[in-house]
Amino acid sequence: MAAGSRFDTHEVVNQSPAFENVDLFASDGPLVEAVKANGGGGAGLIAALSAFGRHWGSAEMIALGRAANESPPRLHAFDAKGFRRDTVEFHPAYHRLMGESIAAGLHASTWTEHGRHAAAPSEVLRAARFYMAAQVETGHLCPITMTRAALAALAADTALLGKIAPKVLSRSYDPTFRPWWQKSGMTLGMGMTEKQGGTDVRANTTTAVPDGGGYAIVGHKWFMSAPMSDAFLVLAQAPGGLTCFVMPRFRPDGSVNAMRLQRLKDKLGNRSNASSEVEFTDAFAWRIGAEGAGMRTILQMVQLTRLDCAIASAGLMRMALAQAVHHCRHRNVFGKRLIEEPMMRAVLADLALEVEGAVALVMRLCRAFDRAADDAGEAAYARLVTPAAKYWICKTAPAFIYETMECLGGNGYVEESMLPRLYREAPVNAIWEGSGNVMCLDVLRALKGEAEAEVAAALSRDTGIAPADSGAADLDEAHARALVGKLALMASAQALKSSAPAIVAHAFVRTRLTQQHATLYGAAVLDPPLMQFLLKRVLPEA
Ligand SMILES: Cc1cc2nc3c(=O)[nH]c(=O)nc-3n(C[C@H](O)[C@H](O)[C@H](O)COP(=O)(O)OP(=O)(O)OC[C@H]3O[C@@H](n4cnc5c(N)ncnc54)[C@H](O)[C@@H]3O)c2cc1C
Repeated sequence: MAAGSRFDTHEVVNQSPAFENVDLFASDGPLVEAVKANGGGGAGLIAALSAFGRHWGSAEMIALGRAANESPPRLHAFDAKGFRRDTVEFHPAYHRLMGESIAAGLHASTWTEHGRHAAAPSEVLRAARFYMAAQVETGHLCPITMTRAALAALAADTALLGKIAPKVLSRSYDPTFRPWWQKSGMTLGMGMTEKQGGTDVRANTTTAVPDGGGYAIVGHKWFMSAPMSDAFLVLAQAPGGLTCFVMPRFRPDGSVNAMRLQRLKDKLGNRSNASSEVEFTDAFAWRIGAEGAGMRTILQMVQLTRLDCAIASAGLMRMALAQAVHHCRHRNVFGKRLIEEPMMRAVLADLALEVEGAVALVMRLCRAFDRAADDAGEAAYARLVTPAAKYWICKTAPAFIYETMECLGGNGYVEESMLPRLYREAPVNAIWEGSGNVMCLDVLRALKGEAEAEVAAALSRDTGIAPADSGAADLDEAHARALVGKLALMASAQALKSSAPAIVAHAFVRTRLTQQHATLYGAAVLDPPLMQFLLKRVLPEA
């Protein structure tokens, strides 16, 4: 009998044990297969992923995730005497999570010391870790993803990149409030969104005026997450048009830069992470890229953060599914384990198939990022499928997690189960870094863009859609969601064909492409042996 299970009036029985001390890698059949199929299968690599999975699946790490979200960050705009402080205080658990992610290279392992893309399969290996970390705590991954992605935009200024890259690539997390060059490691944020326009950044009113060795920035950002980062990529209107800048927290002379944190957002989820409103009052910044090339420059970064949104949402779905299957294996109703009840099996198997498609797709997409520099077809695939995957997976996650919550009954609605946190966390990945419609517009842009022939070839090769069938010739914004949804499903099916057993890929195609999938999970027709197969792949039975 477990300690504490005897009360005065009853004994505690028929409750599932906590889902912890699990190897988040080895226990996840579809993840292991997707990593292997996309180039990450070396013996040493698999063992290292498993070590990461055991560590992040430990009770200790799961407790850190809870603690970091129970005590959200606090803004200290002023000190006791009324002087500006503009600092944010985080719970120690948040700092531990940051330290762990940075030590594991989630913020930088895809870059070489010169700020160039590291050799394959660096994207796939990082993505597998990112996927597992997202299952435990997602808020802190906001500065982690921005830091890794920012280097892609910084490549526009090799001199600045050369100075900053060693601090970014460091595996040491240094949360002290000091100039970046005095620190053992640094993190990077991003400020694009203003009050009058987030999607439409051309409406930015923040101005930049050349000033000595840099620019003086005046204006605001309505959302700027991770405000304790050491520097931010910021868009502002320079004399030559919308331009990208790097704004450090400390000016080159060592004084605190003029970034005034006005308020922290009171958010639905993502509570361990701080998202600020900020004003710049002649803040110092370096320009990166040409004046007027701001969008082009920062899009190099945004392409990578969009990829991470899709990976993180797939990770949230995986954790929710694992919790549901684990619970249903331990909970008895009417004398039977819940997982043996035919309707619950149908729900869980249908949910499992959704995650199969999501993880296969994100890992296939990472392989494209791994190969993009040497293969125009893979570059075109990455260009096209990143917004489609972000659109589809991030928008699927909230309803998916709600369904898993119900599998745990009342316990699923209660904070300690983790499901409420996963549920609150999910929508933000669909909103930030370009919301759903914006992702669909981006797919249309890719189909019509400069690399049209490459994209059409990638589309046809990897999804089976002939360019003529894709609607690419007659693109209509009003119908873009239907097109992009279909594209994401076809890309998932194709990815499953190369990473999962044929029975899984066929079931995905049949239930999601040749038949219309019902709005709710559990209505797809799956035969009993297939359900058994899918559920075993979610988690090995104890
Ligand atoms: C928690 C959180 C943290 C954030 N952190 C940051 C940050 O660190 N840095 C930063 O720069 N931003 C940040 N953002 C802002 C985020 O990126 C924007 O909210 C997002 O890009 C949408 O912009 P918006 O809010 O101005 O909405 P709008 O641009 O007004 O868009 C509203 C809706 O209209 C849709 N839409 C827009 N254009 C079209 C069109 N042409 N056709 C059809 N539909 C369209 C969009 O898809 C969206 O659904 C954060 C947001 C959140 C919620």
